[in-house]
Amino acid sequence: MHANLIGGQWLAGAGVAVNVNPSDTRDIVGEYAQADPAQARQAVDAASQAFESWSHSTPQQRFDVLDAVGTTLLARRAELGDLLAREEGKTLPEATGEVARAGQIFKFFAGEALRLTGDAVSSVRPGVGVEVTREPIGVVTAITPWNFPIAIPAWKIAPALAYGNTVVFKPAELVPGSAWALAEVLANSGLPAGVFNLVMGRGAVVGPALTEDPRVAAVTFTGSAATGQRLAAAASTRGTKMQLEMGGKNPLVVLDDADLEVAVHCAVQSAFYSTGQRCTAASRLIVTDAIHDRFVAAVVKRLQSLTVADARSVGTDIGPVVDEVQLRIDLDYIASARAEGAHLAFGGEARPSDAQGHPGHYLLPTLFTETHNTMRISREEVFGPVANVIRVRDYAEALAVANDTQFGLSSGICTTSLKHASHFKRHAQAGMVMVNVATAGVDYHVPFGGRKASSHGPREQGRYAAEFYTTVKTAYTAA
Ligand code: ADP
Repeated sequence: MHANLIGGQWLAGAGVAVNVNPSDTRDIVGEYAQADPAQARQAVDAASQAFESWSHSTPQQRFDVLDAVGTTLLARRAELGDLLAREEGKTLPEATGEVARAGQIFKFFAGEALRLTGDAVSSVRPGVGVEVTREPIGVVTAITPWNFPIAIPAWKIAPALAYGNTVVFKPAELVPGSAWALAEVLANSGLPAGVFNLVMGRGAVVGPALTEDPRVAAVTFTGSAATGQRLAAAASTRGTKMQLEMGGKNPLVVLDDADLEVAVHCAVQSAFYSTGQRCTAASRLIVTDAIHDRFVAAVVKRLQSLTVADARSVGTDIGPVVDEVQLRIDLDYIASARAEGAHLAFGGEARPSDAQGHPGHYLLPTLFTETHNTMRISREEVFGPVANVIRVRDYAEALAVANDTQFGLSSGICTTSLKHASHFKRHAQAGMVMVNVATAGVDYHVPFGGRKASSHGPREQGRYAAEFYTTVKTAYTAA
């Protein structure tokens, strides 16, 4: 049984949850402790006690710990990638790449601990000096989703620790394995007890103790819009600092002048890889008239060549959906698109097992055409390998349709026109814009985040992360 980490101790929980492999539901990945609210409060106690000394640690101490974590993750990428693929269902290359990314993130923020600077400013008054510095904020609760079981925790935990905060980490119920492995690496990398704590358990059970305690200075959350909005409403009454990353309904515009190969690659990669289970997945393919039919035919041809199978089998392009609940949600959206008159161009079917007979939650990549931006399939995030093509007249209509959504995370365009690319970069209502690259797949040293209902609070990643994980102090000194 894998225990929670609280105040430097590995502690059994009030219950146990079983982690099941979505590629082969006969395979049990492991058993993981489930905390109750009292244990969650104990973790907040430990983190607030540890804050006093960790907030005064030297940048060198913080660099050493984070750099060691990064080195270990990179060295163990194959082993931890296999665990990640086994519990989440993304393919081995994707999972191994994600573990490597987590390692790079820890190394980046190790460096950031050394690079944090302030400003010395001349006062407008004679004989006074002004300094502007950044200080840690306190206990940070990090709540993460199941779709990036190690990269998202890394991009929350690494900056929190780099800037001198202490952390209580609550991973998603479906993927405790990668979270526990990361906690073990952190525990063995020289962190003082209580600086980092792992609380596994159901959000509804441990969530309030981890987000509503007045000793929690900040909550960083990635997950569904419904949960994020609930957390924000509760936090606003207490003034807790909040960073929320929620859904997307990301458009990929394909113009007549696009390079067809590039457009097909961007669409298939963005919409269907990682089983479409990325908040940056392109799900609305907005295509102008003259290229529409050629584009659809080429995407369908590419989809026919993809292998949907066990995430850990060699040659798999797309693994299973994460669990039965998510598969049912995906199938419900597929049924609703058909009911609204969308044409099913490819896929649409679940498979109870792969070609090797592994029982799992398999779903063929699914493409709809003849859809409108008003249909439910165009308005709501599916979070599965499902995309729909919306036919438009020209660039102006494409841009209008792309922006006609409640979300604003990632927005892409495939075109060879400098004029349209430049205009789109300026006018896409999204936090991230992609020109001739997939909407999903980002760098770790630049800001990540969105607009509208996709995000709330300061950006994640890169040096912009300091905005959330530090608070600014202005000090005046008379000479
Ligand atoms: P999804 O599972 O669809 O990604 P959720 O928003 O349900 O989206 O879950 C994201 C994370 O939020 C998970 O770690 C989950 O346990 C957590 N969570 C769910 N409900 C709450 C809550 N009331 N308080 C705190 N965390 C929660």
